Amino acid sequence: METGVAKAAPRPASPQTLRMSNAAALSLRLAAGRFYRDVELTGINVLLDYERGCHANCAYCGLARERAGAYEDKSFIRVDWPVHPTDRIIEQMAKHAERMGRFCISQVVHPQTHHDTLELIRRFRARTDTPISVLCAPPLLNRERLQQYKDAGVDMIGVGLDAVTERTFERRRGREVRGGLHWKKYWEVIFLSREIFGPWKVNCHVVVGLGDSDRELLEFSDRVNRNEIYAYLFCFYPEPDSAMASARRPSLFRWRRIQLLKYLLEERKISPRDIQYNGRGGVARASIAREVINWAIEGAAAFMTNGCPEQRTGLVSCTRPFGSYRPGEPFRDYPFVPSSADRKAIRRQLRLDRWCATSNEQYHGQNTDHSLPR
Ligand code: SF4
Repeated sequence: METGVAKAAPRPASPQTLRMSNAAALSLRLAAGRFYRDVELTGINVLLDYERGCHANCAYCGLARERAGAYEDKSFIRVDWPVHPTDRIIEQMAKHAERMGRFCISQVVHPQTHHDTLELIRRFRARTDTPISVLCAPPLLNRERLQQYKDAGVDMIGVGLDAVTERTFERRRGREVRGGLHWKKYWEVIFLSREIFGPWKVNCHVVVGLGDSDRELLEFSDRVNRNEIYAYLFCFYPEPDSAMASARRPSLFRWRRIQLLKYLLEERKISPRDIQYNGRGGVARASIAREVINWAIEGAAAFMTNGCPEQRTGLVSCTRPFGSYRPGEPFRDYPFVPSSADRKAIRRQLRLDRWCATSNEQYHGQNTDHSLPR
């Protein structure tokens, strides 16, 4: 029966449209202008775009189901992600292929996600051979689906684990926020991805500031590294109107120290035994050779964004500028190689004299505990 009331046409959604940060749009010449300190992205992250958005409800996420507002107006890692036609994005990726290092599809928990991801990979692969990452939504995945991504040409899998303990995961993403996400399922997908994609082709995103201690964060990073999985650090920065909008972000000092120690563990320049913790799991002291500290600060890779690399150079491609700081604030992770003035600032921010006992000895040994949670 005709009601006489005209129905509004549904707005386009993925796979016809994708969301992309303004920094990525500038780098793909889909928007005019220049970015702060001339930052140019070589890693382009896109986010699947659905009218009803993500079905999960993470306490810190701008896309959370219970966060007020329409999905298309919601920010993500504190930056706006306007909607663009998929064809235009792929066309520009192909046109600027020589400058591009990586294309990353960020999934959301939505029933269409798997189907649309495969469609995007197929359309993208038909135009360019730039490496593809999928930042996956584990609740939707299984062995067969991950294998389909691999067979379609995906090179790396990212898992947004974010919390490194089950306690923090349940508190921020699971039962305590009616999030519907399950710690065990995340680990199942991490293990499957490691098996299917191989060594150093899987990464876990880890957010400093959700409630895990320094010890938990650093021990986690060390454990996954020993299983040839990367841990990529993110710095919590409260998203307005999210459930954690009034939570404090980690101090710059804590963040820098975790960046440095995580990097030195990763590079096998120190052992976990070189770090001592207080009763709350905060770093109390660390024993590090002076030359190792100077090498890390001068090389500065420890303080740059952690992200999937470009294939050609091996340098980080996914640099996500301004996800955890604003222009004019100190950088949390640098989306470029820090300058000599930046490196001086980093040294000051580390306040090494408070916690670091420098020695002249260098660590070359091995740790023994390699087990991951099951
Ligand atoms: S680090 Fe960047 S490119 Fe890699 S999976 Fe995460 S968001 Fe994607």
